[in-house]
Amino acid sequence: MERLIITIDGPAGTGKSTAARELASRLGLPFLDTGAMYRAVAWRCLKNGISFDDESQIVKQARQIRFEFSKNRLLIDGNDPGDELRSDEISRAASVVATFPAVREVLVEQQRKLAGEYSLVSEGRDQGTVVFPQANCKFFLTASPDVRAERRWNDLRAGNPAISKEMILREIEQRDERDRNRKAAPLKPAEDAIIIDNSNKTREEVVSLMVENVRKTMQLPG
Ligand code: C5P
Repeated sequence: MERLIITIDGPAGTGKSTAARELASRLGLPFLDTGAMYRAVAWRCLKNGISFDDESQIVKQARQIRFEFSKNRLLIDGNDPGDELRSDEISRAASVVATFPAVREVLVEQQRKLAGEYSLVSEGRDQGTVVFPQANCKFFLTASPDVRAERRWNDLRAGNPAISKEMILREIEQRDERDRNRKAAPLKPAEDAIIIDNSNKTREEVVSLMVENVRKTMQLPG
């Protein structure tokens, strides 16, 4: 049976994960958080003292991780990844491991395997361009750097009062630069993606717009 694939790509801090989770829940589909897969590889490398220059060791770590869905959520080695994967250190490390083509190959294979078993909403940087060029509906979310830094600051400041918005903005810009300029699967919108700038939109407006477009594309009743 043909599976339904909806992709959401875009830079850091655009609210992709929130929108993807909400869209998936409205459509009753699993949500594939591919950023969490790269974060899991980074976390394992940090835990096991693997050098971030050592591509073959990083690939080995990536191969040892088990990804599966349970109740429409992605489990990593049997656990629902929590906020511990979302620290600044892991964000930075994830964007470094994501530059290695062989690491991407391992994770892309897992992403395609899951999409062979389930219809899903998949969120990341390369989902509409490289991983699922055949996706039924593709979105690319953007927002101004200032808005993105403000949102991330609001998420992080309670746990880390010393962090400033300027520090976050710098970190976001460095990460975007690495994601956009890497050779393997650089961050960019697919030619057939619907681009949504959510700088001045609420989460509800973004998700409604997505639902409307999915219905139109799939010719589903409203
Ligand atoms: O989306 P999230 O911020 O969790 O992603 C963490 C990092 O993982 C990104 O900065 C990016 O370098 C990498 N990533 C990627 N391709 C994806 C998802 C994430 O390169 N599909």
